[in-house]
Amino acid sequence: MATYRELLAQVKEEIDEVSSPEVLGRLGDLDRPLLLDVRERDEWQEGHLPGALHVPRSNLESRVETLIPDRSREIVVYCAVGARSAFAAKSLGELGYDNVASLAGGFTDWKRNGYDFQTPRALSAEQRARYSRHVLIPEVGEEGQLTLLDARVLLIGAGGLGSPSSLYLAAAGVGTIGIVDADVVDDSNLQRQIVHSTHTLGEPKVLSAKRALEALNPDVNVVTYQERLTSENVERILADGWDVIVDGADNFPTRYLVNDASVWHDIPVVHGSIYRFEGQVTVFHPHAGPCYRCLYPTPPPPELAPSCAEGGVLGVLPGIVGSLQASEALKLIIGAGETLTGRLLLFDALYTTFDEVAVKKDPSCPVCGDSPTITEYIDYVEFCQGPVHA
Ligand SMILES: [Zn+2]
Repeated sequence: MATYRELLAQVKEEIDEVSSPEVLGRLGDLDRPLLLDVRERDEWQEGHLPGALHVPRSNLESRVETLIPDRSREIVVYCAVGARSAFAAKSLGELGYDNVASLAGGFTDWKRNGYDFQTPRALSAEQRARYSRHVLIPEVGEEGQLTLLDARVLLIGAGGLGSPSSLYLAAAGVGTIGIVDADVVDDSNLQRQIVHSTHTLGEPKVLSAKRALEALNPDVNVVTYQERLTSENVERILADGWDVIVDGADNFPTRYLVNDASVWHDIPVVHGSIYRFEGQVTVFHPHAGPCYRCLYPTPPPPELAPSCAEGGVLGVLPGIVGSLQASEALKLIIGAGETLTGRLLLFDALYTTFDEVAVKKDPSCPVCGDSPTITEYIDYVEFCQGPVHA
């Protein structure tokens, strides 16, 4: 029977080893090897080689085929001193990976040479507590939560749909939330616009919402645009850089502006709309699925537009639709699951039914189609008289 020392020596005979200077010399190459860190999580947290992939030794065999499907890929595997990585290299060879080497001396030798290493970001103790129910979900985890904290979501409207979506996005720890809204809080808003309150009547909605969201979660930075979205300001607002747009607009002109801007800037839009007891939600993901104009190429003629000022809405309906929008936005950010791209979800609160219809990208769409005919912003005329509050 071999001792550990003998076994290690035997394994090292069977695998290839590379030195730290050799690996350093290859880091700038286009065909640089994939650096695979097989240490435990706490070791990884204290620092790792630049750009390395982390798979603890204990999960290596079960996870490597998913993470590195190409078995001919050149891999340099490392651990703390080059022992665990030697066994890992042997095991990878047995799994069919035929271009694997182990870093001699491991991370300890790398640091001893004074070479650069990266320290991964981690949640603070407070954040670990605040987001613990996210961290527990494999699809989110600490990585996903850090992604959410880095994310930037732009909300069009701080009304019925913007209220629940902004509250849930803020609670989820989306680090930067932009809000575009020109209105002030009115007493007829409070039946459904739950981000505002009786105390903020008469205040600009963007400021009322900012206070509520930052009180809910101090990790969140709220950027306010107290203006109505127009062809004049849309480029300036988008220049601030957004990962996802949540459209809670209550009017056609804004919806078309948001749509055209999102296609040209390649930003996914989570669309929601509500009327009395009925709501709709979908995701317009540029190039991956249809855009708003694929469904409605141009606004309806004024005589066919609904008299939206008189529409009315059940107070809780925007709560449901806006929460679905927040859910889609969070999934878009962390890349989990399947979004409503190409699917229009219809909700009827009066009969409590959800229906779904497939929506397709239109090759002749005037904005995202093969030969676009609309290439500049259009300010359509508002159809309904007076302000409309979604
Ligand atoms: Zn389109």
